[in-house]
Amino acid sequence: MYPDVKLFIDGQWTDAADGRTLAVENPATGEVVGTVAHAGQSDLDRALEAAQKGFEAWRQVSAFERAKVLRKAADLMRERVDAIAPLMTLEQGKVLAEAKLETTIAADVIDWNAEEARRTYGRVIPARAGNVYQMVIKEPVGPVAAFTPWNFPIMQAVRKIACALAAGCSIIVKAAEETPASPAELVRCFADAGVPDGAVNLVYGVPAEISEYLIPHPVIRKISFTGSTVVGKHLAAMAGQYMKRATMELGGHAPSIVFDDADVDVAVSVLHANKQRNAGQVCVSPTRFLVQEGVYDQFVGKLTERMQAIQVGDGMDADSDMGPMANTRRITAMEEFIGDAVKQGGTLRTGGNRIGNKGNFFEPTVLTDVPTDARIMNEEPFGPVAVISPFQTFDDVVAEANRLPYGLAAYAYTGSAKTAQDLATSVESGMLSINHHGIALPETPFGGVKDSGYGSEGGAEAIEAYLTPKFVTQANL
Ligand code: NAD
Repeated sequence: MYPDVKLFIDGQWTDAADGRTLAVENPATGEVVGTVAHAGQSDLDRALEAAQKGFEAWRQVSAFERAKVLRKAADLMRERVDAIAPLMTLEQGKVLAEAKLETTIAADVIDWNAEEARRTYGRVIPARAGNVYQMVIKEPVGPVAAFTPWNFPIMQAVRKIACALAAGCSIIVKAAEETPASPAELVRCFADAGVPDGAVNLVYGVPAEISEYLIPHPVIRKISFTGSTVVGKHLAAMAGQYMKRATMELGGHAPSIVFDDADVDVAVSVLHANKQRNAGQVCVSPTRFLVQEGVYDQFVGKLTERMQAIQVGDGMDADSDMGPMANTRRITAMEEFIGDAVKQGGTLRTGGNRIGNKGNFFEPTVLTDVPTDARIMNEEPFGPVAVISPFQTFDDVVAEANRLPYGLAAYAYTGSAKTAQDLATSVESGMLSINHHGIALPETPFGGVKDSGYGSEGGAEAIEAYLTPKFVTQANL
C-alpha cells in the first residue's frame, strides 16, 4: 500500500530526470516499503522556473479566492485522513492515532491560514500635508524554499505551505527523504483543491545539495527551515550571505518545572503523555524535569510508574502507545546519551535499552541524579528520555531553565498565580505553558528564542513572515 513517491513540479508528479530513487524504510520492521524520487540539478531548475511562474499566477488571485482554495485543501485533508495517516505511520513509526491527529490538525492549520489570507491588511498613515495619502500595502515576499524534517512529516510542511500560499507566495518544499509519502499527500490536497501549476512544488534528494542550490538562487526570496540548530545556523548564514529572509524553527531542551504547590497528578499525567508522544522526537518535548524538593520523591515515583506502563510497539497496532524511533541514528543517540549520563553518576530508574533487534524500538527511560555537565543536560535528546532533577527556590529553577542556549518551549506546574506570573516574565523561551499542555495550536504563535531560532509559525504572526510591507505615498495635485 506504500507508494513510490514522485517529485511534484509545475503541477505534475514526475520521476527525477535521471531516474534516481532512494529507498524508504519502515522503522518498525526495518523493511523497505517503497522509494522516493531523488531530484538532481535539472529537476531543481524546473522547480525554480515553475515557482517563478506559479508566483506570478497565484499572486494575481484575490485573497478571497485564495482562501476558498485553501479551505478546499483543508476539507480534502479531513476526507482523506484514513488513507494518509497509515502512510505516515509506515514511514515514520508514530502510532496511528497520532498520525491521524497530525493530519486533521494540519487541516486546521490550512483553515486558519485561509482566514488570515483575508486579513493581510495594510494601513493608511495620516500625512503631514492635506493632499497626500500615505499607504502601507502588504505584498507577498515571492517564491519560498522550505526544508522540513521527518518527525512531523505533514505538520512541519503544512505550517510553511499554508502560510506561503495564504500570503500569495509560491513555494518549493524539500521534505524529509525518510518520510516522503505523507507530505506528498498533503501537496496533492493543495493541487486537487485548485492551486495553480507551479505554486506548490515538492522535491527530495540530498538535503545539503538542494539547500545550497536553492538558497542562493535569485528566484528564491525567502527560506524557512525546521530541524536541528546546527543545520539551522548553517542555512541562516547562507540566507544572510544572499540576503534572503529566513524563518528558523530549531531544537529545544524544554524545562518542565513542578513546584511544591502543584497538582502533582496532573503534572505527571500531562508531562508523561507529552514525553511519550512521537517517542520524544518533538522539538517541544518536555526534557529537563525540574521538581521542587517537597514533591520530588513523589513525582519521581509516579512518573517512573507511568513511563514503565507505556506499551511500545508497531504504530499500526492499536495496543501500542508509543512506536519505534524514526531511524537508527536515534537509537545510537539514545544509547550514547544514557551511557554518558550513567557513567557520570546518573541513576537509571527505568528503561535505558533498545527493545529487540528488529525495528528501532527503545524503552521509555527515566534518569535522576544526572550532573549538569552530562551531555543529555545540554544537548537535545530527541527521544523518550526524562531526566529529573530537584530544585530548592524559584531563583534556582529559573537559573537552570535559562542556563542553556535553547529557548523554545517551557512548562510549569504551580498552584500560585504569583509564581505563574513571575515565570512568564523570567523564563527565556518562545512558549510557556502553565498547568496544562497548550502550545502548537494553529491560532497561537509557535517559535523560539536564542539558539532555538527566530520567527513564528503560528498565530496571526506567522503570515507576516511571507509578506513585505510596501510604503506608497501619493500627492493629489
Ligand atoms: P540533521 O540535523 O542532519 O537533519 C535534521 C533535518 O534537517 C532533516 O530533515 C534533514 O533532511 C535536514 N537537513 C540536514 N542538513 C540539511 C541541509 N544542509 N540543508 C537542508 N536540510 C538539511 O540530523 P537528524 O539525524 O535528522 O536529526 C538530528 C537532530 O535534529 C535531532 O536530534 C533533533 O535535535 C533535530 N531535529 C529537530 C527537529 C525539529 O522539529 N526542530 C526535527 C528533526 C530533527
